[in-house]
Amino acid sequence: MRSITLATACFLSAVAFDSAAAESLFIPADKIYTSPEAKPLLQGGVLVRGGRITSVADERSRIAIPENTQTSQCRGIVVAGFQNSHVHLMGPLFDGAAKKPAAELEKSVESMLTRYGVTTAFDTGSDQANTIALRARIEKGELRGPRILTVGWPVYPPNGIPIYIRDLPKAMLDQLHQPKDAAEARKNVRSNLDAGTDGTKIFMVTTPEPGKLLSLPPEIARAAAEETHARGKLLLAHPGTRAGVRAALDAGVDVIVHTTLGETSPWDSELLREMVAKKMSVVPTFKLWVYELAKQNVPENVVKMLVDATLEQLRAFKAAGGQILFGTDVGYMHEFDPTDEYVWMSKAGLTPMDILASLTTAPAERWKESSRRGRIEPGMDADLVVLAADPADDVKNFAKVSCVFRAGQLIYEAAKPVPNSP
Ligand SMILES: [Zn+2]
Repeated sequence: MRSITLATACFLSAVAFDSAAAESLFIPADKIYTSPEAKPLLQGGVLVRGGRITSVADERSRIAIPENTQTSQCRGIVVAGFQNSHVHLMGPLFDGAAKKPAAELEKSVESMLTRYGVTTAFDTGSDQANTIALRARIEKGELRGPRILTVGWPVYPPNGIPIYIRDLPKAMLDQLHQPKDAAEARKNVRSNLDAGTDGTKIFMVTTPEPGKLLSLPPEIARAAAEETHARGKLLLAHPGTRAGVRAALDAGVDVIVHTTLGETSPWDSELLREMVAKKMSVVPTFKLWVYELAKQNVPENVVKMLVDATLEQLRAFKAAGGQILFGTDVGYMHEFDPTDEYVWMSKAGLTPMDILASLTTAPAERWKESSRRGRIEPGMDADLVVLAADPADDVKNFAKVSCVFRAGQLIYEAAKPVPNSP
């Protein structure tokens, strides 16, 4: 055991980094955001042992560093691991997850999630067995990846498969739940949860054909809520429209996974008041809106009007005291880089620390895990992201990820700079 000031520790020659073999790991830092609310620590670092954070200190602190501690070669701005609360683990990257070579699967997971700092991914709809197989392989250590939570197969209104997923393979479409009544909805939800899913996702309003909106019958939504809440899990909903948000509130939905595109009138104060009173969280997915409208060749001025209206929804929701969760709909959306989402969130009035909260403390609280994740404190899971630059200077820096640790294990490392390069 050696006790040194961290300013010295940071400049000790770094040993070859192998966190798996390390008894303890020291991650030096230029700055540490221990939480969105706390004043950041300058210099210093984070000491990790047994998958947990054991010490966090700034340059003036003295901490005991065990003899066999390895020092991470990652150094930068350290924040808690991120949760993306709206992903889909589906498509060619993830198909056949049980059998795909681990290296290939790891590349898929990395390209969509880990390279952007995701240590927990909430999958809001995919092939249930496939996603659970992927999760099992990550947990067995066959490949590096985030913790995965999933809703499995989502629940749609009867004959309500949205037009935009009609090109999915028929075998998949056939498995999407479209319960005809509350009893069938209960059965669908139970079968998901029995298979090991972590919540339920329902579609409040869908577009099964152009120009037609179809609502989920209220008794089906309520049945899904009851079955899900009885198991202590969260009910998530695709709202579709403002009326869909209203229906989600009436059903007891916990999280809506989008703002509502296509409506220029704002979420009114009565709706906002009730959303906040009932602790409904919102995942904004702004980048998705731009992506979808671009696919439809919508003129730029109309895009601006429609997206601005969604920014207003979130601005008002935040002003009312609502909880915002970061999420991008990657997996459905083929552009994985979250940079634009951070910029849009900032345009909706979120500060860099509000965005950090949406990535860390807010999901930890929403999933009732604040005692183990979301902040950098002794005793917390060592889910950590090292950023190359400070997000307080520019929110785009949330996407400039150098290294990611999950439970103290390195799960992503950006390509190392070439030694002795000018
Ligand atoms: Zn989605």
